[in-house]
Amino acid sequence: MDSIYWVMTFACHRRCVHCYDERFRPYTGAALDVVVQEGVNAFDRIIANLPDDFSVRRKDPARSDRLRGQLILAGGELLIDPVRERLFYPALQALADRWAPAQRPLIGIQTTGDVLTPAILADLLARGVNRIAIASIDDYHVGIQGEKRFNFMQSIRAMMAEAGVIEMSLGTAMDPGLRGALEGVATRVSRDDLRPHFLFFGAQPELWIGELWPRGRALVNGLSNVTYETNLCARWSGGQNFLNYRQEGSEVAIGPDGALYPCCIKTAAPLGWVTEEPLTAILDDLAAEPALQAINAGDPEAMGMARGWSREDFKAQSVQTDGKGRALANPCFGCDAYFKTMLAPVLEARRQQRLLRLAVSDVTA
Ligand code: SF4
Ligand code: SF4
Repeated sequence: MDSIYWVMTFACHRRCVHCYDERFRPYTGAALDVVVQEGVNAFDRIIANLPDDFSVRRKDPARSDRLRGQLILAGGELLIDPVRERLFYPALQALADRWAPAQRPLIGIQTTGDVLTPAILADLLARGVNRIAIASIDDYHVGIQGEKRFNFMQSIRAMMAEAGVIEMSLGTAMDPGLRGALEGVATRVSRDDLRPHFLFFGAQPELWIGELWPRGRALVNGLSNVTYETNLCARWSGGQNFLNYRQEGSEVAIGPDGALYPCCIKTAAPLGWVTEEPLTAILDDLAAEPALQAINAGDPEAMGMARGWSREDFKAQSVQTDGKGRALANPCFGCDAYFKTMLAPVLEARRQQRLLRLAVSDVTA
């Protein structure tokens, strides 16, 4: 797999107005315990069911060497108490034990950066984190917006320099077609370069999430500026290529409970649960499903054609009203409608069949 984006918890210390999932927010008391425990209960089975070999074929046919895959760990915020000690550090230890050095993925984390300290940074490096993405550089993260971001970025740069962590350019972390947006001061770091490195990004207009995903608080607060022509599926973090897990450019997302999705935006129903079965077994089993092939092709509008939904039908289902009362059109809404009404029962039936086969093979083994 080229890239797996694993949201380990919904717990966060912020409640940003643009956030794509309303479950990312502060929790206290028993509710915090529940949300952290969800990740604690799942992480060891998720790690056991990740691919044994994360390397993939490169897009460049002239290169026969394989590309190291990456595992991006995210929240919410993984560095807050008690997420850090109860969930995140034990998971990092389990990840370090899972692969021999040649097979292991690059381990990256996403954090707002405002709770990062030199001591936590040392912990991350000691536990095998290769990449730290400071994902808060935009005008939505309170306290980091506008001119304030420059002091914040300087303090991060100083902390990183003290620890010997180099700054990488955003372009080398992303799909080649998106490179260039934040190039400048930073170094290009290849995927195979495991020197500790960090980068900055955020929900900036010129980046691939510039319009904001029409989800969660971005939708409720009327902040997403997508149109029907904004095909998030064909962008990085969308569903395109998710089935091509042997090749560069493939990416899937996993939720705190192990739910597997073709995109970071999250479909209205998961493909399966990585807590239950190997990730690639789920993808192999579902690879012939026409709706998922349409997503894989970056053409979500075609997802219902095999079951009688024309492109016009799909488009008609692709409108929602946001929190400002605006009618917003986007293929992700049509995708939601199709998953809810047509695909969710199909996916659940396939899951039950796979689990039955697993149970039978366990008995006969
Ligand atoms: S955008 Fe990030 S920091 Fe803000 S609430 Fe969402 S997960 Fe938390
Ligand atoms: S169209 Fe569906 S699969 Fe594609 S990015 Fe949107 S929600 Fe994800």
